[in-house]
Amino acid sequence: MARVFNFSAGPAVLPESVLAQAAEEMLDYAGTGMSVMEMSHRSKAFIDIHAHAESDLRELLNIPKNYKVLFMQGGAAAQFGILAMNLLGDKTQADYVYTGQWSKKAISEAKKFCKVNVVASSEDENFTYAPAQADWKLDPKAAYVHYTSNETIGGVEFQWIPQTGDVPLVVDASSHILSRPLDVSRFGLIYAGAQKNIGPAGLTIVIVREDLLGHASSICPEVFNYKVQAEADSMINTPPTYAIYIAGLVFQWLKKQGGLESIEKQNIVKSQCLYEYLDQSEFYHSPVRKSDRSRMNIPFRLKNEALDDAFLKQAKAAGLMELKGHRSVGGMRASVYNAMPLAGVHALVAFMRDFEKQQA
Ligand SMILES: *Cc1c(COP(=O)(O)O)cnc(C)c1O
Repeated sequence: MARVFNFSAGPAVLPESVLAQAAEEMLDYAGTGMSVMEMSHRSKAFIDIHAHAESDLRELLNIPKNYKVLFMQGGAAAQFGILAMNLLGDKTQADYVYTGQWSKKAISEAKKFCKVNVVASSEDENFTYAPAQADWKLDPKAAYVHYTSNETIGGVEFQWIPQTGDVPLVVDASSHILSRPLDVSRFGLIYAGAQKNIGPAGLTIVIVREDLLGHASSICPEVFNYKVQAEADSMINTPPTYAIYIAGLVFQWLKKQGGLESIEKQNIVKSQCLYEYLDQSEFYHSPVRKSDRSRMNIPFRLKNEALDDAFLKQAKAAGLMELKGHRSVGGMRASVYNAMPLAGVHALVAFMRDFEKQQA
């Protein structure tokens, strides 16, 4: 068996020990004689898996008691509309921060439900920075303020949490959730698709403050109604059971790593290793403002773009996969989520150094 270093932006690398445990438990989970995939979501075994996953997530993120954790489906992109249906209530507008491809999609979906005020944008510099709070033009009449705390494609990460006064703060944290500690109490709602830093695609995590429940629009489908799902322990219909099981194993793995403070330290070391190499190089460069660079998604360019194809081909031959940047921006991107070992980053930097030498 040969495992590669997988730098995919998502679905993405998972901890090898999690995959090994899942393999071991595939045919007979804990003496039940069946796979978790085959189990009723109402069975005791699955209800335990579900409850453990939730309590481990609560422990990792230190989620206050007045927040509900929902395990939903449809991906982060479904939440773009679902959150508007649930949070607008009798308000007719919401504030959005426009920092790249994912916030763009969130905005265009929200426009189906309300008036969207774009209160800050980094479009003027091709989405390479996080607009400073002082430049945001918040409207106190907004139902909520939405931003994308880590733009997966542009590689821009907010290193701070915005202040929005009494207006609930809503965040798409899909691509960096669990990469660092987070003060959940600063948010009205946090959501994330699982396939970046949590587990398999198909599961979406929603963490929502209780007072925001119960305002869903009458046309909101029951399965997407936060209050209905909260009251049913996310089981108003069949939840993505296997994805929840794997997410639960990832949460246990994170606890074994020492929790989020410790994983953050590792993420700082990994991302600095790559950024320091990029910054001293004449051959590659990072387009993102230094203060706002993502620790998870690291876009970079070869100064001579004619070499892009050769770079990707040789990287692949060296077992370094999925380094091509998103089709909307080009160049390269290395996603170095929690489960990417430091050895993967070292192998990438060594390859980049060799490639640079070979072209010199
Ligand atoms: C991947 C991603 C999404 C979309 O997730 P889906 O699960 O495909 O809907 C949305 N926002 C961000 C920040 C992402 O990284």
